[in-house]
Amino acid sequence: MKEINIGKIKDRFSQELKGAKSDNEKKKICKKYIEDELSSVFVLLKNISGPKRATIGKDANNLKQFILEKMNDGGEKKREEREEMIDVTLPGESVKRGSIHPLTSLQERCKRIFANCGFSIIDGPELESEWYNFDALNFKQDHPVREMQDTLFIKQKNREKLSSKEKLLMRTHTSPVQVRYMEKRKPPLRIIVPGRVFRNEATDSSHEINFYQIEGLMVGKKISVANFKAVIGYFFRQLFDSNIEIRLRPSFFPFTEPSFEVDVSCTICNKRGCSVCKQTGWIEIVGAGMVHPNVLESAKVDPTKFTGFAFGMGIDRIAMIEHKIDDIRLFYGGDLRFLKQF
Ligand SMILES: [Zn+2]
Repeated sequence: MKEINIGKIKDRFSQELKGAKSDNEKKKICKKYIEDELSSVFVLLKNISGPKRATIGKDANNLKQFILEKMNDGGEKKREEREEMIDVTLPGESVKRGSIHPLTSLQERCKRIFANCGFSIIDGPELESEWYNFDALNFKQDHPVREMQDTLFIKQKNREKLSSKEKLLMRTHTSPVQVRYMEKRKPPLRIIVPGRVFRNEATDSSHEINFYQIEGLMVGKKISVANFKAVIGYFFRQLFDSNIEIRLRPSFFPFTEPSFEVDVSCTICNKRGCSVCKQTGWIEIVGAGMVHPNVLESAKVDPTKFTGFAFGMGIDRIAMIEHKIDDIRLFYGGDLRFLKQF
């Protein structure tokens, strides 16, 4: 019987393939080897028995595979594809999910709590006039607060000749929206104004050139400090802890009279004293007061008929306390290692 030598067939095939001048010719050679040479090997194989049959059969199959790859004119490519084949039994790669920015999520929570007490959520312009940012809020022309606020004024031609309604600046607080809203609506009204504010400040761990505030305003008949205490107390109990305590301390703001600072009991140390509350057990968090009659008049609301309270607080500051973050700049750095934690 004729000896079957797969190795020799392979050598002949390779030689012949080398001599091929076109893809078409290559294909023809491959076809010939599969259909003639290998077919006859498989026929002869039937007459062989034992381990020899298995060995030759295996070699013949391998050669067939080899020729088929050459025939598809991209044996290399095919092998690569096979190597890149997906193994469906491997565990999948986890999909990296983004997260809500801590300031955004806190702002959303604040909005929900106030909305539950019937407050509307109002927006206002970040580019503001001096009138709304200062004058209408009872800041006197020479008031030191105008300097203290370190305002970012907008460059304008012949600025000194413009009226305060035309002089532009980046708003230093969200309070101008109080006046804008009262001009258009008659009391009773209840709004909160979340938004971005700007200061011309050197940045450090507790100061940023921009940050976020939430402003609140409630005006109506017989609105008093007691109403304010109830609302702000409800807010902090919802936000932080049902056992939180509130205290008011006298303060000064041009647009409220009387004015007060609101402290909340430190939720971190439970009033025992810690670094966040500077060992006092209390955290100063809100500036507030009864709306100054001059502000009501600026907004064309009759101060003899209506009273109201207003308050403002820094979203950044609350987020820093809540997450024990010691540098405000982290919120604006866009560092994914920081943001992934929320
Ligand atoms: Zn504390």
